[in-house]
Amino acid sequence: MNRLQKCLANYVPLSPLTFIKRASMVYSNRTSVVYAGVRFTWRQTYERCCRLASSLRFLNVVKNDVVSVLAPNVPALYEMHFGVPMAGGVLNAINTRLDARNIANILRHSEAKIFFVDYEYVPLASETLRLLRTELKECSIVEDDMPLVIVIDDIDTPTGVRLGQWEYEQLINHGNPQYHGEELEDEWDAIALNYTSGTTSNPKGVVYSHRGSFLSTMSLINGWEMSTEAVYLWSLPMFHCNGWTFTWGVAAKGGTNVCIRKTTAENIYMSISEHKVTHMCCAPTVFNILIEAKPHERRKITSKINILTGGAPPPATLLETMEDLGFYITHAYGLTEATGPALVCEWQTKWNQLPKDHQAKLKARQGVSILSLADVNVRNKETMESVPHDGTTIGEIVLRGSSIMKGYLKDEKETAKAFEKGWFLTGDVGVIHTDGYIEIKDRSKDVIISGGENISSVEIESIMFKHPDILETAVVAMPHPRWGESPCAFVVLKKPGSTTESEILVYCLKHMPKFMVPKKVVFVKELPKNGTGKVMKMELRKVAKSLQIF
Ligand code: ADP
Repeated sequence: MNRLQKCLANYVPLSPLTFIKRASMVYSNRTSVVYAGVRFTWRQTYERCCRLASSLRFLNVVKNDVVSVLAPNVPALYEMHFGVPMAGGVLNAINTRLDARNIANILRHSEAKIFFVDYEYVPLASETLRLLRTELKECSIVEDDMPLVIVIDDIDTPTGVRLGQWEYEQLINHGNPQYHGEELEDEWDAIALNYTSGTTSNPKGVVYSHRGSFLSTMSLINGWEMSTEAVYLWSLPMFHCNGWTFTWGVAAKGGTNVCIRKTTAENIYMSISEHKVTHMCCAPTVFNILIEAKPHERRKITSKINILTGGAPPPATLLETMEDLGFYITHAYGLTEATGPALVCEWQTKWNQLPKDHQAKLKARQGVSILSLADVNVRNKETMESVPHDGTTIGEIVLRGSSIMKGYLKDEKETAKAFEKGWFLTGDVGVIHTDGYIEIKDRSKDVIISGGENISSVEIESIMFKHPDILETAVVAMPHPRWGESPCAFVVLKKPGSTTESEILVYCLKHMPKFMVPKKVVFVKELPKNGTGKVMKMELRKVAKSLQIF
């Protein structure tokens, strides 16, 4: 057996780039991308990607060069997911909600060779480039090291806004449609670079391989049971872990990408009714947008819409409300370092018999590993042993397998810290239930240690969320002279002034053990969130620390 050899016929590097080539043949005339009044077929999208790749080669992009992009969910950003790696480049889709300083840091750290900018972000990009130029000059680095800027004008209604010498459609027009990309030598080569959102520490550049991206994509379209004729709505930013791999996944299924510039209730409901959307992803915060939509923004849901949600814990009651509206929710958990979702709460048919609220509770659990992960565990931080499958003993969630990043760009120290004895440490704490499903209790940095007791902020939040007046809540640690730390709750009310701090505390006392009850409730208009809709608890901790309540 061992004499049998690998050869070109039986061993080809794994890459999501094969998906689009296949889609261009198998689904050549099926709609690939819809955006406003623009519509492409898979044959056209593939041709545009080939043209883009050849133009990037013309602009001297070579293997491992970083191509950064600041854009909303428009066709150009979708095409770059194929065109950039076809040219050998590494795609770096930047979070559009970052400020100029953060973006300049990313461009400098990644040594981006090209910087694509959607016309809407030209003012932000101009400020970014000004900062970058100043920084490079201070380090005596020459002007040549500035990235080449290419603006992306609106493809449906061009605005004429320009920055730099090129516009995206020029690259497409001048590109060679016969160029099918560089040959991939090694599946371990980099395909994408995504910076962490920095909710717990400074942003780090997470590098994905072709192999990891291929396997994660395959596992997710399988784990979520995405069908071949899927109509996928881009409500999740593509800049977040390459749209949790669905940028590549929709091509694998020959589905249709419905692109929208902004994730508003109106855009979502309109797209659902106009394009018969079947699948979409979003953070749980988008649920509130859909639930609270004004009557004129809503449309009737007439067919099954599958939503994959994650990025933050969705309270069970919120899941129940969404299902009542007609959305079918699957819950996933993941991190940038795991190419997006790593666990999916796979649904078991026997659960269909259970009462609705019980079903929602099961769904609120983060789930089981997707197929591209070899293993997942919850282990005791001190003894390193697995915690019992009892649903109560807390430990750290660790992962291993092909979905895990190659490592952090130019940061061996942090990479070594993230990997320990063959495991990737997530920094999240949770439990394993008797049926093997994992439930997150908190991020280890968000756990509140009060009088030696570990309190899960997520648990307090999900109980408080059931209060009829509360729209959103986030609980963080606040210094306490006696207990060391105590919970402090930040609350957004559905209607300002509809309830008081003492009323909420009475409610908490009724529904949770006394030691978990927040010592302070702060009413706010909105919670500080990052680009992926995640609450920036670091910011709230700073506020909680400054509250002189004792
Ligand atoms: P950052 O770590 O910089 O915030 P990520 O966007 O990668 O960047 O965030 C990953 C984190 O989001 C996870 O470690 C976890 O704490 C949280 N998270 C993701 N999905 C879920 C989920 N379904 N339930 C609870 N927390 C989640």
